[in-house]
Amino acid sequence: MTKIVSLCKRRGFVFQSSEIYGGLKSSYDYGPLGVELKRNIAAEWWRSMVTEREDVVGLDASIIMHPKVWETSGHVSGFSDPLVDCLNCKERFRADKAPKKEPGESVSFREGGRSDGKKLEAAVTDKGYVCPVCGSPHMSDERQFNGMFKTSLGPVDPLDKFIKGIQGKDLSQKELRAQLEEALASTNVYLRPETAQAMFVQFLNVQQTSSMKVPFGIAQQGKSFRNEIVVEHFIFRSCEFEQMEMEFFVEPGTQKEWLEYWTKTRLDWYKSFANSPEKFVLRRHDSDELAHYSDDCYDVEYEYPWGFDELEGVASRTDYDLSRHAAATGAKLSYFDQSKPDPETGKNGWRYTPYVIEPAAGLTRSLLAFLLDAYTEEKGVDKNGKEKVRVVLKLHPKLAPIKVAVLPLMKKDGHPEKAREIVQAFRKAGVAVKYDEQQAIGKRYAKHDEIGTPFCLTVDGDTMEDGTITIRDRDTTEQERVSVEEAIARVVQRLNS
Ligand code: ATP
Repeated sequence: MTKIVSLCKRRGFVFQSSEIYGGLKSSYDYGPLGVELKRNIAAEWWRSMVTEREDVVGLDASIIMHPKVWETSGHVSGFSDPLVDCLNCKERFRADKAPKKEPGESVSFREGGRSDGKKLEAAVTDKGYVCPVCGSPHMSDERQFNGMFKTSLGPVDPLDKFIKGIQGKDLSQKELRAQLEEALASTNVYLRPETAQAMFVQFLNVQQTSSMKVPFGIAQQGKSFRNEIVVEHFIFRSCEFEQMEMEFFVEPGTQKEWLEYWTKTRLDWYKSFANSPEKFVLRRHDSDELAHYSDDCYDVEYEYPWGFDELEGVASRTDYDLSRHAAATGAKLSYFDQSKPDPETGKNGWRYTPYVIEPAAGLTRSLLAFLLDAYTEEKGVDKNGKEKVRVVLKLHPKLAPIKVAVLPLMKKDGHPEKAREIVQAFRKAGVAVKYDEQQAIGKRYAKHDEIGTPFCLTVDGDTMEDGTITIRDRDTTEQERVSVEEAIARVVQRLNS
């Protein structure tokens, strides 16, 4: 992992956000190569989930939605963790969401404030909890920590409103808090913690304008924000990240088969780009892991350096979201199937609230998984017999930020001009190509191996005579002399295979 982080910075894939100010923990910037890799992953996802399918359409919704969306979805009350701090050893715990315990009983705490932290039992006394780490009875009260970022919408500063509201009044702390909450609530909006809700809220608009028939899906990619208690493993868990989600609406009763279909489809998608497909696996959720609205769920997991962990969740979400938004707004978020009899009345035509299968992937997390999968060190010997290590990023050509590097052997004798001509020919063919004349040829090969460029083309003296170039394969390092047309044909064919 350290090697990946260092390569990302050295070569311009990922930088720490606001680095010159000391960095902002949990935020990252994608550099010139990172942005290309991210866009390529997103494009491949979009191609397989939307463009190549008749039953899925896209959406690009706003990040800030009506705050009631998040009340209805359960995020305002449910997307929060009860946290307790030990005032003595400063350890932080996440308490179980189970009902409050009485003195003499115990409560489950998770170490480090993490949902998957080590489980520890904390005794409950009439004065509160006892720290399961140091035994101190001095622990903070439980405080609800909501993972959604709040901000305010509109020209009114809620703090001005608050100050006006309390002027001249002698209020208790509790009353002050209530006033403050009221002032904040008047302008309060959230940054979305997932892209999914917009697909439910816009269900009718999308279904009707594009005449979609169930089963069908709505797909979306975009930024999501979570005020994570623990940010970790580089870009694996950050507060600002990108998701690729799809809500697939199905007839009630068919959700099991569609869940099976989508888990397999999504797993196969990752494997199709992988060097080590066996590191991508499915894990079914135990029944006590399921969210209350979910009747089944799988995670696509990847074997990261710290072990298997989530890459994507594929959940069967029942009709929970559509039913909740329909009940809250009165909107008819249902579907009428003319061709089917209503199972209850037997009459022609069946109106129902569709069930939903949701493959929810992390784009930035996928980028990390693909980098880890691609990173290879090959031991060899140099021409002096000294041991050397070749670092190769064996990214799938479709994902590689640069597909072809065109390298003039020398900066004279017409090599640069010829190389630029070849660059233009590749651009015309729609291939992401880079002209590179810096450093000795061996160093240029090494650099392009390290950033995952699948092909290097070298322009040399022979090129000037017969127009041929050498094409070098990143993975085998083998070189062949071919015509420019042949090189373009080979690259294009590899990118389309
Ligand atoms: P985790 O268990 O890792 O916290 P989650 O189950 O809360 O993830 P979902 O709500 O199912 O995640 O979100 C779908 C996908 O979005 C995840 O599988 C992951 O790839 C990505 N994701 C979620 N939270 C983050 C985050 N904080 N940083 C980066 N990616 C994230």
